Parts: sequence; C-alpha cells; structure tokens
Amino acid sequence: MRVAVLSGGVGGARFVRGLVDALEPEAVTVIGNVGDDVEVLDLYVSPDLDSLLYALAGLNDDERGWGRAGETWRALETVSRLGGEDWFRLGDLDLGLHLVRTQALRKGERLSAVTARIAAALGVRTPVLPATDDVLVTRIETSAGVFAFQDWFVARGHRDEVDGLHFEGAETAKPAPGVLDALAHAELLLIAPSNPHVSIWPILAVREIRAALAARSVPCIAVSPLIGGRAVKGPADRMLARLAGGTSPAHVAGCYQGLIDALVVDEADADDLDGLSVRPIVTRTLMSDSEARRRLAEAALTIAA
Ligand code: GDP
Ligand code: CA
Repeated sequence: MRVAVLSGGVGGARFVRGLVDALEPEAVTVIGNVGDDVEVLDLYVSPDLDSLLYALAGLNDDERGWGRAGETWRALETVSRLGGEDWFRLGDLDLGLHLVRTQALRKGERLSAVTARIAAALGVRTPVLPATDDVLVTRIETSAGVFAFQDWFVARGHRDEVDGLHFEGAETAKPAPGVLDALAHAELLLIAPSNPHVSIWPILAVREIRAALAARSVPCIAVSPLIGGRAVKGPADRMLARLAGGTSPAHVAGCYQGLIDALVVDEADADDLDGLSVRPIVTRTLMSDSEARRRLAEAALTIAA
C-alpha cells in the first residue's frame, strides 16, 4: 500500500518510523512542515525535516526526543563563550548537516533537492519532501507581540498564550516537487500525531496541498497527538484549548474540517467522543517503543484496507 503522510517533527517522526516498519520504506512519502525553519548562526535549520531524517536513519536521540543520539555540544560551548548566538541548541553532529544544507541552498539548490541528497547519504529510502521550497514562516500572535515560531517556542519557551497564527508566504507557496504526485498516487492519506496548529496547519496553508486533500478520492486518517486530552509533550493541548475551544477528539478533528474521514484516538479519550463528526478509531496511541509505534501505524492502516 502506498501512503502519503503529513508530518511535523518529533511526534510525526515517531509515527513515520512505525509506518515504515509496518510497510516498506519506499511505500511511504512524508510531507514535512517547514514553517519552523530558522536561520541560526547563518545556518539554515529545518527542525522538522531533520527530526524525520534522523528518525528514519536511526540516528535520533529517543530520550531527548530531538536531535542526534550521542550528541556533544562543544561547538556551541565555544559559541557561548565567544558571545555568539547560542539560544538555539545545535549539537556538533547536527551542525554537520546544517553546514552542508546551508551551503547547498546558498549555491541555489532547492530545499527539496538537498533534503533528498542528504536522505540518500544517510541511507534513508523513504522520500522526505518539504511541503514547499518557497518561503513559508509560521508567525505566532500573542499579547506580548508577534514572534517567528522558534523565537516563541525556543527563545521564550512557548510561555505566551497563542491568540492566532499566520503562515507568511503561504498564499503564494507552491508544493515542492513530488508533493502533489505523492498525494495523487497514495492509496491512503495520513496526518501524523503532530501539533495540528503549528506542525500540520503550515503544510495545509499551501493552497494546492489543502485542495488535494479536500478533493481526495482515498481516505484520509489523522492520528490525535493528545492522550486523555493532554499533549504527550509540548503546547498542543494548550493551543487546542485556546484556539479550538477544547481538547476532545472533536476539537482535534475540527482542525482538519473537511479533510479527514477518521481520527485515531487513544483509549483514554474513548469516553469523550461527543460531537466527533468523523469515524473514531480507538487504540493505544502512546509510541513508547518501536513495537508501540508499529502497532499504532497498523491501526491506522488496517482501517483503510
Ligand atoms: P515537533 O514539530 O517536533 O513539535 O513535533 P510534532 O508536531 O510532530 O509532534 C508534537 C506532538 O506529538 C505533541 O503534540 C505530542 O502530544 C505528540 N506526541 C508525541 N509523542 C506521542 C505519542 O507517543 N503518541 C501520541 N498520540 N502523540 C504523541
Ligand atoms: Ca516542529
């Protein structure tokens, strides 16, 4: 079965690994969020694509949840000591990727092309496509001001409540090469258990991607990132409460109005299905290990079979 999956970083990458284990690496095409991308120390960093690449290459740090296993921080220590830009944590191993990508982009290579090249070099056979090669920047509107995503998330520790979101550049952004093809040829469309507002909405803000999902001829299934109404990690629950009015499965599904046919929800949310207008698929959704990841992926896949 060929599937296309929309994904953010950490939660998405865990799920994508489960999918690849349940199917074949080449059967899955990942469409990744780039709204979080940031320039640090003049390096182009794409945190969600990197989480996906590291997870698929088996290089990720499972415990920390992001970045590479066995990471060290000596370069960043020097940056700090020299009074350089050290608010965004870039490890020594991670830096190598950012150097290669930044140089390629400066020479005019597209983000999709350099991502494919890096994936191949890491032995990743699953296509990982940025949603777009064009500029698309998530801006977070708060009472303290409007922040670029990482300024809000990392520098301010996502402490400000979010009043609104804006995806700068989305009006004119084109899907990256391969994205519309992957959506058109998939037998199942999936939305990973990523933060709906800041990981999936920036992807859906690319008009042709949203239109392709809206006009789908195959099922689209989203997996909820909430367990018992709470995010496993990060601000998804707070954002849903404030922006969508609650943290039930119906509120999660409401983020994907008209775009999904079913929502995979955790057993802990099975009693909270009021108002859910798409089919619920109730299972255990905590991806604590590779077995749990694969079981969750299989639950989403079997429904389509
Ligand atoms: P980011 O881009 O790195 O922030 O990652 P994502 O947006 O892809 O994923 C963040 C979301 O993943 C959070 O809202 C978490 O609640 C969710 N998440 C992380 N681990 C799990 C898990 O094991 N099960 C489920 N259902 N959600 C998870
Ligand atoms: Ca992200």
